[in-house]
This record gives sequence, C-alpha cells and structure tokens, in this order.
Amino acid sequence: MKVIFLGVGEAFDSIPNTSILVESSANILLDCGYSIPPELWKYNSNPEYLDAIFLSHSHADHTFGLPAVLMRMCSEDRKKPLALICQPEMKKYIEDMIELGYRGSLKKIRGKFGIGYLEAAASRPLQFADLKLSFARPRHPVNVTAIRIDMGSKSLCYSSDGAITEETASLYRNADMLIHEAYLASGHVEGHSSISDVISMASSIGVRKLALVHINRELARKKEDLLRIARPEGIEVLMPNSMDYVEL
Ligand SMILES: [Zn+2]
Ligand SMILES: [Zn+2]
Repeated sequence: MKVIFLGVGEAFDSIPNTSILVESSANILLDCGYSIPPELWKYNSNPEYLDAIFLSHSHADHTFGLPAVLMRMCSEDRKKPLALICQPEMKKYIEDMIELGYRGSLKKIRGKFGIGYLEAAASRPLQFADLKLSFARPRHPVNVTAIRIDMGSKSLCYSSDGAITEETASLYRNADMLIHEAYLASGHVEGHSSISDVISMASSIGVRKLALVHINRELARKKEDLLRIARPEGIEVLMPNSMDYVEL
C-alpha cells in the first residue's frame, strides 16, 4: 500500500488542503478540498486512475475540489464508474455542490461513467475490492467520518477533522499508520485535536507510525521544532509535506 500526501494544510492555509491518496488493489482519494484538483492532476493525469473518493465531511477544505475532479474525468471520457464513500446524509450536499459548480454536470457525469455511493457508517464495515473499510466518528462542528483501510496484514487510518473519541481510538488500534489532524500543539479547542493528545492516544493503542496533518498554519511554521520535541518511545511521528509518500 502506497500512501501519498497530496496536501497536509488546514482550512485556510497557503498550502494544499489535507488530502491523501492510497494506492493499492484500488486507488482511493481521501478527501478532495478546494485546492486539491491541480495536485491530483500533477500526480496522475489518467482519468481512470481513481476507483473511489472518500469524503469525510461537508467542509470546503475537504470537498470543494470534487466538481472539478469529476468534470475533468468527464471531459477526458472516463468510462469506469466512480465510487463515492460518504455518510448517507452527504449525498444531497454533494449533488448540490456538483451542480453549483457546473450546472447540468450531474447528467453529463451519469451519461459518461456514473457515480455509485457507498455508505460510510460507524457500525458497518464495507468491502471494496480486497480492502476492508471501517469507520468511526470524531467530534467536530459537523458530522465527520474517520476511516480505517485494512488490506491483508496492512492497515491505514485517517481521522479527517475532529477531536479524538473513544470510538475513533478503538478504530485506530494497532494501525500500521494513523494520519491524524493536530490543529493545536497542546490544550483544547472544540472540534479539533492537539499534537500532544494525538501522540499520547496513538502511543497507548499500539499505532506504529503517526503522521500529523491539518496543523494550524502559524504553528506549522515551527514544524522542525515541534518534531524535535515530539519523539515518544515506540512510535514514529512524521509531519509530512505535500507530495511526501510512505510505503506500508
Ligand atoms: Zn479541515
Ligand atoms: Zn472540518
């Protein structure tokens, strides 16, 4: 499994939004914020490349790139259906967003390759190709879904936005890699997590590699200092840059 950090930025950042590409038996994009389409096209311009897009929640830095990504697939004659993995209540939001971006585009997309929705529910894991997908809910101002991808003995988790909950910590247990938002260095802000809380949670549940993303833009300038301090025992902590990748 190859994991590519297309972006690691927060909501109002000058670097690309947090979005992760997972290449395995299926290629899945985890979130598609407003600044992600050019990053995706630079990385791989093949309209058939993606098998699925997971949309964690209805914030612009996680979803507003979708209309452009779909319309480019359309204009380049994609044939293969695309799976959208999201909470069922996001379907209307997604279709309104696509139509607001390009009026009439839903009809075009359906005529070319079509979209199939897969329901991301905390209680119900999904099978997609030979990947097992499981979900949990972090705490955030809107409903968010965190995801775990298991393929054979390898596992990857992505928190999207939100504070740690018992449900998410249990989803991440013993993961080979956890990609977690860490908006703050320490302390508390409603609906987000901190570097110190995420490191201590991940160390206590057997996560092997932790990648911290969606770090507050002011704080992220001090990344090198933060990494020097954040060296817990038994867990590798990364603060990746755009286009860094990890092989699991
Ligand atoms: Zn966000
Ligand atoms: Zn958010």
